[in-house]
Amino acid sequence: MKHAIVMGGSMAGLVAARVLSDCFDKVTLVEQDVFPLKAENRRGVPQGRHTHGLLAGGRQALEQLFPGLSEQAVREGAAAGDIAGKSRWFVEGGCMAQFESGLTALAMSRPFLENLVRQRVLQIPNVTSRQGTHVDRLMFRQDFRRVIGIMCGTEAIAADLVIDATGRGSRTPQWLEAAGYQRPREERVEVSLGYTTRHFRRRASDLNGDIAVVIPPTPDGKRGGVMVAQEAERWTVTLIGHFGHYAPEDLEGFIEFARTLPAPYIFESIRNAEPVSEPASARFPASIRRRYEKLARFPEAYLVTGDAICSFNPIYGQGMSVAALEGLELQRWLRSGATDARGFFSRISNIVDIPWNIAVGSDLRIPETVGPRNARVKFINWYMAKLHRAAHGDPVPALAFHTVANLLTTPAAVLDPRVAWRVLCRGPLCRGSRPQIGAGLQRVRLKPDPTTQPTV
Ligand SMILES: Cc1cc2nc3c(=O)[nH]c(=O)nc-3n(C[C@H](O)[C@H](O)[C@H](O)COP(=O)(O)OP(=O)(O)OC[C@H]3O[C@@H](n4cnc5c(N)ncnc54)[C@H](O)[C@@H]3O)c2cc1C
Repeated sequence: MKHAIVMGGSMAGLVAARVLSDCFDKVTLVEQDVFPLKAENRRGVPQGRHTHGLLAGGRQALEQLFPGLSEQAVREGAAAGDIAGKSRWFVEGGCMAQFESGLTALAMSRPFLENLVRQRVLQIPNVTSRQGTHVDRLMFRQDFRRVIGIMCGTEAIAADLVIDATGRGSRTPQWLEAAGYQRPREERVEVSLGYTTRHFRRRASDLNGDIAVVIPPTPDGKRGGVMVAQEAERWTVTLIGHFGHYAPEDLEGFIEFARTLPAPYIFESIRNAEPVSEPASARFPASIRRRYEKLARFPEAYLVTGDAICSFNPIYGQGMSVAALEGLELQRWLRSGATDARGFFSRISNIVDIPWNIAVGSDLRIPETVGPRNARVKFINWYMAKLHRAAHGDPVPALAFHTVANLLTTPAAVLDPRVAWRVLCRGPLCRGSRPQIGAGLQRVRLKPDPTTQPTV
């Protein structure tokens, strides 16, 4: 294995380049942008201006590929705290129990994380980058059965393997079609999401030291928000709306929108806070999943990863973590000696299934979301509403929720009999024990599950 090319130098591309560097003599990362020298936003990743959460499952995967990354992030300014103990999740009219789960969350901006990972990758001796280079198309062998490189303008770059990590706007479907293959079937779930983000100075007294607030949009109000601590003593605040309920960019309108959210935490923290950046807005019409694993034919020596396969509703903070988990799967696939891309895509499909079902199932709670509401989805949403209510006063269902949402375990964990019993019997057992909103800061030490222990 001599030369591999990765198209796209964002999170999925960086992770893929790291993995390929173990098996190829040379890896070339081809990126249309010129990488900034420090943690800065760039044109090819416009979403970088918005709040980016890194799930614990993604952090662990990154840590496996880049040992010491979490410690380095904290050393260089990321905020760290217990996933359940230092964050406020407001669901079903109340704040989930806060307790020490033993699971550490890292809070930082997207450019900060990408810069850390990029520096690591670019230090690998057999990885080189071609920056400011736009990939225009693939080069195929004469019989079109194998990809043999890429074309960037008039320049041809030959390779033994090419990976597409160019994100949601990937042109692989068109390139395949032009070469006589079928396009992958595309699943879309229309969510009509609007994101508006501002940054504020973070004061030590804010939220009593908690590092994150999550207020998911409700089916009725369709408005939500997230507020996450960042490096350089900042808060990133993203106000979210579905189907036209979008937050304005101007400061006064932004704060007023925050006041209308189901919980007061964000409004109370920002109403007198110092704004420290220009606002940014984004529209996210639909989650998209491309079913490469279902194609009967696929060219040799070509793979796809990251958002180019599945672009999730960003509310659930899954994209970077899934890209990291896909990187680990690519490593396992390469080590197995397999070469058939369809085997790779079927492994990736297993990884994507869980976060996709979590996101889509939850999106379907909102009546306007277009998608199949089968009996399973209805049952899960009924059950999850009960679990969230039980989690207001009980750390056991809360921990089950956090481990699933953080991709540390399978969704079956929320149906574990020890959890289900507490969820379904909550009424008679917990009557009177539900903490008040904002005062529900229970500190309960649970025995940590060794399988979900953070590596730092
Ligand atoms: C508003 C928003 C908020 C989000 N919030 C979160 C979050 O909280 N947590 C989370 O984990 N994820 C979040 N995501 C998703 C996350 O940003 C992506 O999943 C993550 O960046 C991985 O994507 P990627 O590397 O596959 O593609 P991208 O990040 O889209 O990067 C694609 C790269 O390819 C380059 N490129 C594109 N075309 C070409 C070409 N032809 N030639 C050369 N280079 C090319 C681009 O310049 C870019 O660098 C969010 C997404 C959005 C839109």
